[in-house]
Amino acid sequence: MSNSQQTTTQTTVQTVTGPIDVNDLGRTLMHEHLFVTYPGAESDTLNKPMNHAERLDVCVDKIEQMKAHGVNSMLDPCPNDLGRDVGLMTEVASRTGFNIICATGLYKEDQGGGAYWKFRAELGGSPDDITEMYVKELTEGIGDTGVRAGIIKVATGQPAISEYEHMLLLAAAAASVETGAPITTHTDTGVLGDQQQRILTEAGVPAHRIIIGHSCGSDDFGYHMGLVEGGSYLGFDRFGIAILQPDELRVASLLRLLEAGCASRVVISHDSVWCWGGSPIPDPEAVAAMLEVWTPTHFIERIVPMLKEGGATDEQISMMLNENPRRFFSGEALPALG
Ligand SMILES: [Zn+2]
Repeated sequence: MSNSQQTTTQTTVQTVTGPIDVNDLGRTLMHEHLFVTYPGAESDTLNKPMNHAERLDVCVDKIEQMKAHGVNSMLDPCPNDLGRDVGLMTEVASRTGFNIICATGLYKEDQGGGAYWKFRAELGGSPDDITEMYVKELTEGIGDTGVRAGIIKVATGQPAISEYEHMLLLAAAAASVETGAPITTHTDTGVLGDQQQRILTEAGVPAHRIIIGHSCGSDDFGYHMGLVEGGSYLGFDRFGIAILQPDELRVASLLRLLEAGCASRVVISHDSVWCWGGSPIPDPEAVAAMLEVWTPTHFIERIVPMLKEGGATDEQISMMLNENPRRFFSGEALPALG
């Protein structure tokens, strides 16, 4: 049923402030962002950016709110080309005593830094150079920061995986096979995760080392079960983004998976962004309305009660928030469904 599972397991996970025992992850959100900036934001000269101290304050405040809800750790899977700021992550982690895991990777073609990498490829740049960069960031550190990534990020857009994105999937798979690092993905509105899973596993990545992200963007039970049968984790990681999908639909989809015995296959998050480069959401009122629920404590505050109302147990919720992130990073085999 599932693809061949690696027998080797990892006892530690790399955070921005150093390796920690996987058993110390505790309650973990698997997809939140301290800071995101789209390529091109630097051209928006009408925007007044927050300074570093302001960003630091916002991020520390969010982390303190998460800690107050029993959260110990998070993954910020910002790819290299969306303004990933490991200096900010490190400072926030140090100030709060909170575990932050960062990623290496490149974003999807339509919103990432593809202009640079495609220009470079035209002049002889090779996908192997990208793999080399990922491996260096995973094993030695990002630039000269000494901060190591703990996971590889990949992303695809719509309506199909582009040639550029396919190249990035293979570069990520090669780096994963070489280093044993796991992979987390972006899917647009919960489509093409099945193809991501196939491409990555055919390139040698064990399916249980992959999270198919934004799977809650789909309410197709067959699609979800296909990913489960393929042996990967599903990211229900956009709770609170009402403009993409109402939470009621995400909850209904998740309850169906729990009823089908899939609690061990789901990780939780919000894809919340705490600080932006530029102002990609131009209407301040729209931002304010979104931010009421698009917070990293929304799942625990408002979604858990909805799930319990629908029959989810404390054990299932704890499995998704605690046990699954630990098992995912350890590389342990998946338990049987049910
Ligand atoms: Zn994200």
